[in-house]
Amino acid sequence: MFDWLVVGAGFAGSVLAERLAASRGDRVLVIDKRDHIGGNAYDHADQAGVMIHRYGPHIFHTNSEAVFTHLSRFTDWRPYEHRVLAEVVSPSTGQTVQVPMPINLDTINRLYGLELTEDQLEAWFAERAEQVEQVRSSEDVVVGKVGRELYELFFRGYTRKQWALDPSELDKSVTARVPTRTNRDDRYFTDRFQAMPRDGYTAMFSRMLDHPNITIRTGMEFAEARKRFSFRRVIWTGPVDEYFGHRYGRLPYRSLRFQHETLDQEQALPTGTVNHPAESTPFTRVSEYKYLTGQVHPKTSVTYEFPSAEGDPYYPIPRPENQALYKKYEALADAERETWFVGRLATYRYYNMDQVVGQALATFERIQKVVPPMAVN
Ligand code: FAD
Ligand code: UDP
Repeated sequence: MFDWLVVGAGFAGSVLAERLAASRGDRVLVIDKRDHIGGNAYDHADQAGVMIHRYGPHIFHTNSEAVFTHLSRFTDWRPYEHRVLAEVVSPSTGQTVQVPMPINLDTINRLYGLELTEDQLEAWFAERAEQVEQVRSSEDVVVGKVGRELYELFFRGYTRKQWALDPSELDKSVTARVPTRTNRDDRYFTDRFQAMPRDGYTAMFSRMLDHPNITIRTGMEFAEARKRFSFRRVIWTGPVDEYFGHRYGRLPYRSLRFQHETLDQEQALPTGTVNHPAESTPFTRVSEYKYLTGQVHPKTSVTYEFPSAEGDPYYPIPRPENQALYKKYEALADAERETWFVGRLATYRYYNMDQVVGQALATFERIQKVVPPMAVN
């Protein structure tokens, strides 16, 4: 008999399992249908001994001191600021070049053979930006800031590949994740805290879940756990539509196929990630883990990301009709008295890791208000 069944051992499930067990003394069973903990942040050594992320590169960054402090209980950190280059054909020279992404002063100067200053670049963008009455779509965000040529070069093809939708059909929040800069800052993120768990994500999750009140069963589906165990309440971190048997139809998710390669050389890329926005290239980006992990090894491993309709649900797809369908499921979720829905799939939100941790901690606070600790219940 468990007080809680936590479905999914990713950030959402693991953060809550630890809080429930360690802070309240509740008895918690954590299951995951995969054969490991960590959810999409799972990392491990590949056959050559190079640390890789099975589900694509995960770079931790947050502005939330509370989230960073909480995770710091389970890991030390290695400072890391991610940098990305985009491989594009220069409109002025016709040459293939790799330039900083997000677009910044160096991107424009290198792409067009210019020597603009920050102020001049501001004016340069303003000349090219299109008037957009109301910024609604992922196309509006970019053309309204930098104009159509840069939009087509850096965003249109990448987005069409990643989502199988034109940016005009996607909510503005998607491309708004990537800013435009007029200075020379070439970091992908500007958050206050940017660091990688020193021993990796999986080690951090292991420490989080290492508690006498937590039992872990990997390789186990919800349906099986229901038959084999008894529990009072559920934390659900899988797809919300799955929980309700797809009653209103399937919520669309986008998937990826990861191609992992180990190369017999110390370094493969000039930076942690190279984006390939051209629509003619079937993958969107390639990443080299040694930049992220700081590992020293004679070989190196990289991952190519091929967007796909088939496969695990990785990305909720932000667009109005999907949000409307999610709202119907959210109403069902709100009416469930004994189940809490947490995480990227269960709340159908395009959340980064830190946002999921924040959401899990907030959920814990809500639980504290309405469910007495089981030890006294
Ligand atoms: P998940 O990690 O998906 O965990 C849910 C778990 O539930 C899964 O392990 C699944 O197997 C399990 N499950 C589902 N249904 C069932 C069931 N019926 N029975 C049993 N188990 C079930 N975020 C960042 O902050 N920085 C990054 O650099 C970054 N890069 C990313 C790159 C890629 C390619 C992707 C896809 C995501 C990236 N993210 C990144 C986002 C990050 O992965 C998520 O925010 C985070 O992992 C979500 O945690 P979660 O617990 O909500 O979901
Ligand atoms: N994007 C793009 N070109 C790029 C990088 C990003 O068009 O070079 C768009 C694309 O739609 C992508 C979104 O911006 O899905 C968000 O990018 P981010 O790197 O945050 O994606 P994630 O890491 O979540 O896959």
